[in-house]
Amino acid sequence: FFASSSVAGFSTYSPNMDEHSPRRLTLMGELKRAIERDELQLYYQPKINLTNNTVTSVEALIRWKHEQHGYIPPDEFILLAERHRMIRPLSHWVLQEAFKTCAEWHRDGIDLTISINLSTKDLLDPELPDQIAGIAAKTKVQPEWMHFEITESSIMGDPTRALIVIERLRSMGYQFSIDDFGTGYSSLAYLKKLPISELKIDKSFVLDMLENESDAIIVRAIVNLAHNLGLTVTAEGIENAESLEMLKAVGCDVGQGFLFSKAVPQDELRAWLAEWNGRAH
Ligand code: C2E
Ligand code: MG
Ligand code: MG
Ligand code: MG
Repeated sequence: FFASSSVAGFSTYSPNMDEHSPRRLTLMGELKRAIERDELQLYYQPKINLTNNTVTSVEALIRWKHEQHGYIPPDEFILLAERHRMIRPLSHWVLQEAFKTCAEWHRDGIDLTISINLSTKDLLDPELPDQIAGIAAKTKVQPEWMHFEITESSIMGDPTRALIVIERLRSMGYQFSIDDFGTGYSSLAYLKKLPISELKIDKSFVLDMLENESDAIIVRAIVNLAHNLGLTVTAEGIENAESLEMLKAVGCDVGQGFLFSKAVPQDELRAWLAEWNGRAH
């Protein structure tokens, strides 16, 4: 079903990708059911502090294992959910699940921050801050335990409206990261104005930087830019020791990637963490 849709090619017009095709609509009905029946799962990928090898945060990444089609990548069903006005219930589910898990961890003395990905539509929803405040109150999660990842593109669609939501959450104590940095369309002048605390270098640069000098130059430039703006810089897509060494050498603060761990269910994350913390680094 999804075989022909690469992540990058997804928004093009191949006939069976038609968003109104019966199969797509069926899938959206199934997603709705999956949310209602709690058939989605939130996985967590550790973010490693590259200066001291500690793990103080994780990124929450949604997983949908469809009974017939198997695993459907989030890049694909999130875009669909946005088009079919399903993103609100989806994001609500993600927020509830992540806040609940965060509260459990802190109750058990696991002092981790969770980064949650927000979509374009979330940033345009003026009710989002109140909704988050409600979930935080119910789960007794402190804002400092939660970060939100947004992309340049998700802000630039309607920067004025997006900024209202971002500023509100910021004033409540939540921090923001720019995800996939370097692939979007924001201007540096705009970046300076955003109340963010982290830049995440897109994994395409990190994956290619050992073979491609331009990618290595871009990685170094983003690290310097972030530091000069007083921001933390995180690299995603660290798959091997060589990339890790290069990132450490250029002063990247935090790293994420298959070299450390892929995203895993929360019980596996606990086991991974115990193992990681027990190891000498
Ligand atoms: P993202 O936020 O940029 O997440 C990073 C993606 O890179 C994840 O893919 C992760 O599994 C993958 N990744 C991590 N380390 C490596 C590595 O070393 N090598 C490679 N090749 N990939 C790595 P995933 O989980 O498929 O998520 C894709 C995108 O879907 C995310 O990109 C994010 O934009 C979106 N997404 C995921 N979960 C959510 C969610 O709960 N809500 C929203 N709105 N979007 C989500
Ligand atoms: Mg992210
Ligand atoms: Mg990313
Ligand atoms: Mg992404």
